[in-house]
Amino acid sequence: MYPVLHIYPERIKHNAKNIKKLCDNRGIMVTGVTKVVSANIDVAKAMLDAGITSLGDSRIQNIIYMKENGIDAEFMLLRIPMKSELELVVEHVDITLVSELKTVEWLNEIAKEKNKIQNIIYMVDVGDLREGVWYENAVEEIIEVQKYDNICLKGIGTNLGCFGGVLPSVKNMNILLEVKNEIEEILSRKLDIISGGNSAALPLIENGILPDGINHFRLGESIICGTDVTNNRNVPGNRQDTVILEAQIIELKEKPSVPVGEIGFDAFGRKPVFEDKGKRLKAILAIGEQDISPDGLIPIDEKIEVLHSSSDHTIVDLTDSEYEYKLGDTIKFRMSYGCLLKAITSKYVEKVIEK
Ligand SMILES: *Cc1c(COP(=O)(O)O)cnc(C)c1O
Repeated sequence: MYPVLHIYPERIKHNAKNIKKLCDNRGIMVTGVTKVVSANIDVAKAMLDAGITSLGDSRIQNIIYMKENGIDAEFMLLRIPMKSELELVVEHVDITLVSELKTVEWLNEIAKEKNKIQNIIYMVDVGDLREGVWYENAVEEIIEVQKYDNICLKGIGTNLGCFGGVLPSVKNMNILLEVKNEIEEILSRKLDIISGGNSAALPLIENGILPDGINHFRLGESIICGTDVTNNRNVPGNRQDTVILEAQIIELKEKPSVPVGEIGFDAFGRKPVFEDKGKRLKAILAIGEQDISPDGLIPIDEKIEVLHSSSDHTIVDLTDSEYEYKLGDTIKFRMSYGCLLKAITSKYVEKVIEK
């Protein structure tokens, strides 16, 4: 039954190999990030087949799911953990990102009870204003970690392009490296991992300007979608046809392009605007905001225009298409990162693995 998400692991493997090669050439370790496909097992396998040995996800449930389904890798928890999931973290996660000393203290207690060492990467905020200790206070906060016997500070990391949309740059990477150098001096040892960021930081490698010392990236979107939304581009050499959404037409009629009647707000409190193009051939698809975001739908038939979605309906304009669509036909889309995230999470969208 439609809607269907067609997932192409071989294409994702191609992307993963391409990214792995790029990073290998510069001595950068890669953690493949699975969250945008809810840790789909075939996608995780595709990353491992490409030679990636470390997988990261923001949800502990996804990490447990991968382990229970035979995925053998080093697992990194990307979202700084909740107090309520720390038992699970110590049980299942090889390395967790953190940004609070209190969380480290709690992790230490649990690790001690379980007779384990918990590896951590301490996050440093170099300007984007999402997670991490503000860089000016980073050294004094992070060196406190040495108090805890059952915690191993594997390294430090940063995340950019997520809240503030701040682009990774030589300047903000150098801030991270200054923090690293000071910590290494105080602790009299080297840190193993200096994690420079997500897909948004790839241009620094591609352009050969990533400062020496950054040796790890956490990469999801560039591998799975072949895109980099922060820099608004396709990743060179990567495919974007890795996941395709197919939805079915449930109504197909000619209607005016402007509604008739006084206009209030739509089902989501938005005030719609309309351009009068006369009568248009419009289709309603059986998919909606519960499963996708209409702004993130990219029709494969480029002559189709996506007009609007409410909870369960999406309206598209077919007038300019050269193909003669009929009731019951389906329409295929590529998706933005955000739209794919919704589609994969929706239980109403069937997921099919394609060869
Ligand atoms: C999601 C996430 C990533 C991966 O980001 P992409 O843009 O998909 O490459 C990396 N680090 C953290 C902390 C994340 O939450």
